[in-house]
Amino acid sequence: MKRLVTTLAALFLLSPASFSQQSSPAPPATHANPEFLKAADEVLADVSKIISLPVKSPLKKTVRSREEIREFILREVHEERDAAKWHADQQALETFGLIPRGFELQQFVVDLLTEQVAGLYDPKSKEFYIADWIPLHEQRMVMSHELVHALQDQHFDIEPWSEAARPNDDAELARHSVLEGAAIVGMLEYMLHAQNVSVRDLPDIEQFIRAQMIGEVDKNSQLAKSPAYIRDSLLFPYLAGTAFCQRLLKAGGSWEKFYEIFAKPPVSTHQILHPELYLSGENLPPVSLSAAVKAVPDEWKRLDENTLGEFGMHALLKQFLGEERAQRFSPAWAGDSYVVFEQQKTKRVLLLFRLRLAADSDAARFFGAYSEALELKYASRASLFRRPNFFSFETAQGGVFFYCHNDECLTAEGATRAMFDRITRALRWADAPRPAASGKPGEKIAVVQPLTVPRAYAAHVAP
Ligand SMILES: [Zn+2]
Repeated sequence: MKRLVTTLAALFLLSPASFSQQSSPAPPATHANPEFLKAADEVLADVSKIISLPVKSPLKKTVRSREEIREFILREVHEERDAAKWHADQQALETFGLIPRGFELQQFVVDLLTEQVAGLYDPKSKEFYIADWIPLHEQRMVMSHELVHALQDQHFDIEPWSEAARPNDDAELARHSVLEGAAIVGMLEYMLHAQNVSVRDLPDIEQFIRAQMIGEVDKNSQLAKSPAYIRDSLLFPYLAGTAFCQRLLKAGGSWEKFYEIFAKPPVSTHQILHPELYLSGENLPPVSLSAAVKAVPDEWKRLDENTLGEFGMHALLKQFLGEERAQRFSPAWAGDSYVVFEQQKTKRVLLLFRLRLAADSDAARFFGAYSEALELKYASRASLFRRPNFFSFETAQGGVFFYCHNDECLTAEGATRAMFDRITRALRWADAPRPAASGKPGEKIAVVQPLTVPRAYAAHVAP
């Protein structure tokens, strides 16, 4: 599932507290308001010095109306992701349970971005836009953020740099977090400059940014109405990205040193969330489902194969089990891969998800937690079968299978038991346990077990 905002590489959605309480009305939009152009030049000169990136070429800059910004976002949304990718993401997100079924994903994202954007830098046209509804006294702050992007782009060519992570959505989100985190840190440095304070001197600023960004969200806004996953993926680069960049800036001691990240980008949101692992050069082997894909019958069309990352694993657990348990389990992420398929005739969806955890014991804990999540996701279940490392049941959307093996776990949603067996064999896993044979051959066996967490895992998952 493509991160919803990674394509809009330079969106700025920081919404300061004063922003929502209609302060002074914005000046009438003109595309070359002399006061605005002068301010932009001043901010650019200051930011360039503060973040140690000289201005290489002049910038195009314009004030834009909401309608114009909406048009830009629509164009980006269509250009950056084709209809097939939107469809694949929609199916994957629905099956993971991260958006409601039938949710108008693309429309919602366009509305959300249009509402939240305050300014943007377009790396394609090398142009910096500011929204005409931003009060004058806030324009400089918004400008400083966007101008960090402009300077990043002049030196590091940010669009190809972000896109080099494709098709790995998690790695692309990690790179996007570097760009946004650095732009937030650069903006704060610009704001603190007069007091001679650097972000390097401050304690953790993520909480401050979080409070600024979500503290004053209007209850009727698209952001407030957003499914948690969409809101979190929109905010992740600005929150985790900021903490990561602050940590790196402190570790390296200078912006010059910080820019080494463009030669050695983080490879996952796991590294963004744990900067010490980025710094120590943690290198996790990839998790693959290629063998499993070959075991799926041809009538199933593969829509997408991608990586959730620690960010996505956290989102999955948070959706069903809450923030606290998501925080507790997700740092054990050590790699994943998922594939979403659609059956040509019926349009049914099949989702395979293979996750590697840091240790066998983490896989056992995850088994307990994610079994609960699956039960919460599928309210009507039949033919429940449960073993200490295997759980399956039938639903209106097909069979759900969840199996952990050593330090790995595999789910198949929308499958049959025969398909699941073919998949586990293709992965060279031992066959999953099966209900004791009884009755006539071929008869559907319904084994209903009480909904208790297996004793061996209870100790790990108890609150
Ligand atoms: Zn930005």
